Amino acid sequence: MSEAETATAEATTEDSPRDFVRDIVRADLDAGRVQTVVTRFPPEPNGHLHIGHAKSMSLNFGIAEEFGGRCHLRFDDTNPTKEEMEYIESIQRDVRWLGFDWGEHLYYASDNFEQLYTWGEHLIENGKAYVDDLSPDEIREHRGTLTEPGKNSPYRDRPAEESLDLFRRMRAGEFPDGARVLRAKIDMASGNMNMRDPVIYRILHAHHPRTGDAWCVYPTYDFAHGQSDAIEGVTHSICTLEFEDHRPLYDWLIENLPVPNRPYQYEFARLNMTYTALSKRLLIQLVTEGHVRGWDDPRMPTISGLRRRGIPPEAIRDFVGRIGVTKSDNMIEVGLLEHCVRELLNKTAERRMAVLNPLKVVIETYPEGESEELEAANHPGDPEYGSRKVPFCREIYVERDDFMEDPPKKFFRLGPGREVRLRFAYLITCTEVIKNEAGEVVELRCTHDPDSRGGNAPDGRKVKGTIHWVSAAHAIPAEVRVYDHLYSRPDPGAEGSYIDDLNPDSIQVLEGCLLEPSLKNAEPEKALQFERTGYFTLDPDSSSEKLVFNRTIGLRDSWAKVKGS
Ligand code: ATP
Ligand code: MG
Repeated sequence: MSEAETATAEATTEDSPRDFVRDIVRADLDAGRVQTVVTRFPPEPNGHLHIGHAKSMSLNFGIAEEFGGRCHLRFDDTNPTKEEMEYIESIQRDVRWLGFDWGEHLYYASDNFEQLYTWGEHLIENGKAYVDDLSPDEIREHRGTLTEPGKNSPYRDRPAEESLDLFRRMRAGEFPDGARVLRAKIDMASGNMNMRDPVIYRILHAHHPRTGDAWCVYPTYDFAHGQSDAIEGVTHSICTLEFEDHRPLYDWLIENLPVPNRPYQYEFARLNMTYTALSKRLLIQLVTEGHVRGWDDPRMPTISGLRRRGIPPEAIRDFVGRIGVTKSDNMIEVGLLEHCVRELLNKTAERRMAVLNPLKVVIETYPEGESEELEAANHPGDPEYGSRKVPFCREIYVERDDFMEDPPKKFFRLGPGREVRLRFAYLITCTEVIKNEAGEVVELRCTHDPDSRGGNAPDGRKVKGTIHWVSAAHAIPAEVRVYDHLYSRPDPGAEGSYIDDLNPDSIQVLEGCLLEPSLKNAEPEKALQFERTGYFTLDPDSSSEKLVFNRTIGLRDSWAKVKGS
């Protein structure tokens, strides 16, 4: 077997994902066209990563791993006016947190600025590029439309020496921004607008986060991207569909430059998700206009937002794996992501008790001033998770919703004269309802069956309902933030402004929630199930005075029900 065949045989197991990109990679390895697969994940450091980027990472890093190759992390930092060091750092943190590893292979397009500049001169010398003195507006006017061809610039046929001299003087800083550009000389009548003498260098007197003031001309995305792929030895340059029309230009540049390697571009459908906007521009707007509390607001689809919300990286990877990779645009239901989160957390999250909307209960038969500790399993399905002690005493709190003054028959919780099981504790019966002057229920009086410790009556009588509770004397107060979709419609922006479609109830802050005392030791990013209410994670806003929890997700999975999965 050839080296390539060995790599393929080792790498592709029965349950490896199959999709058209992987099929191309496999065919290239099998045919020996490629020895080692090299992919790259190429974020522009002009914003934070979002869950759409996780799809791209899963594909690029996934392919490299499955086929025994490597995946580079490359910062596509060619636009200094929008790029910042802060983003470079946060992107690396997010990629790592998701569990992807670029090893030694961290690159920057800006590392190639000198080489790219040289290749700009190379194109001029070969009659394949020219300096254009038209203004940006004039260039636009000359470009034509989808139905009409463009017009040649009057500078298109200036002698190569003249273009070369001007390009050098552009680099030397002799001209102001926008005065001139370098354009590839391709075809102003091309049906593909990207081939109508695209701009490949522009003058920008701007400080670059990495190269500082060394440059005042910068390559465009199209000129930097493919050439950086070639320099790094990338074999499969995988990008989203909006670059499909750029592929002829990608190929033209590679074919007209003395590049050391021949990369190929492939396009796949970007992730679109209901109730979500995935565009850095829109996400930046949400932050700068204060519609959310920051980049890592738990309602944001950013990696840092999902993380703060308590969504584990494994659930994100599971999700982007399940949606697959296709060639045509589609819309994924956010319910699928939520389903992946629940499915994982149901297995891994420890259980705790917390009362979000407390109603006081006095157990009159329980001795005053006494308390005891009850054993509570941390996971109902897995003894490996162990157990903890929860304190119990005469006064407890239960969820207001778990009491009804005039309950229907099927309400198996508390009501006057009704018996219910307190999780891990006793069977109690409601004997009296106390109201305030406004007629609101403020307290319940109950009796307990002392022989039912642990939850079952010795006489074997059946008690259907089980409710959670916390001990009044031991509970710790907390703020709980409950989230809903950031947008109120599944297709935000479809009828105009994204901002108009923001869901006014996307956050609900619950004050005065009461938690079992072991939650003092909760940690951020570690999701817990609060029994019967959902999955929750400690928020970094917490202090020793005040704990704050985020609801990662509720328990009810309407997606699974609808899809029957
Ligand atoms: P946005 O459109 O959100 O502003 P972008 O394409 O400008 O994103 P880049 O930093 O250029 O962001 O993206 C890095 C890589 O991630 C690119 O290869 C891009 O195609 C890919 N990517 C961006 N958004 C998505 C998405 N929603 N689904 C899949 N891949 C994406
Ligand atoms: Mg981009």
